[in-house]
Amino acid sequence: MHVRRKLVAGNWKMNGSRAALAELAPIAAAAREAAGVDVALCPPFTLITLAIARAGGISIGAQDCHSAASGAHTGNVSAAMLVEAGAKLVIVGHSERRQDQCESDDFVRDKAEAALAAGLQTILCVGEVEEERVAGTHCQKVLYQLDRSLPELRADAELVIAYEPIWAIGTGRTATPADAIEMHAVIREQLAARFGDAGQRIRILYGGSVNAANAAGLFACDNVDGALVGGASLTAEAFVPIIEAAAKS
Ligand code: PEP
Repeated sequence: MHVRRKLVAGNWKMNGSRAALAELAPIAAAAREAAGVDVALCPPFTLITLAIARAGGISIGAQDCHSAASGAHTGNVSAAMLVEAGAKLVIVGHSERRQDQCESDDFVRDKAEAALAAGLQTILCVGEVEEERVAGTHCQKVLYQLDRSLPELRADAELVIAYEPIWAIGTGRTATPADAIEMHAVIREQLAARFGDAGQRIRILYGGSVNAANAAGLFACDNVDGALVGGASLTAEAFVPIIEAAAKS
């Protein structure tokens, strides 16, 4: 039996400002109360250092990094730069980057390798589009994507998987608990097949319109080890109930 602590991670995407950092104090207070729950927040790059100064017990991270350590990659940021800025984690392979920046599975894997090598907790995102779910090929798609995006594990940095059905991101539609149980089970099987016992320790988050109303139901599902939260992580009012639901699960 593997006991995995819940992780609730917020992704601010291209939102937030200095003023929005006022949300951190009540989120940090809730995180301190939530025994057994890890809380993280990934604001835009420009707010990382400022957020760290106000983070309390919350881990602050980034929403992406490049696979290279340095070089001619205008507009990009390396994993080592994030570490120097004080980041503890990074998200790679978010569907918005896979779509908007045409990021391939190979590139995402290289980013994950670079992030882990730099010592960052690395949240690797996978998920299917609506057509694949309707066609019944959602598990096949996610396992294929995972197979090609998975980095090698390291002893000194944690890999986390986030299952985020693309049709549920920012839409207000959420996977049902049955959908989540099905997908998280096949992801767990693949992680165990690839990494053995270490695969049982990898946390698998659900992401896609998680909110105060649906969080408890999702956290009760087998192999749902927390959530990656977009819109509802922007305010303490919306994010704190999700942290509390994780603590009660
Ligand atoms: C996300 O961006 O990872 C996400 C899950 O967004 P939302 O919670 O807004 O659907």
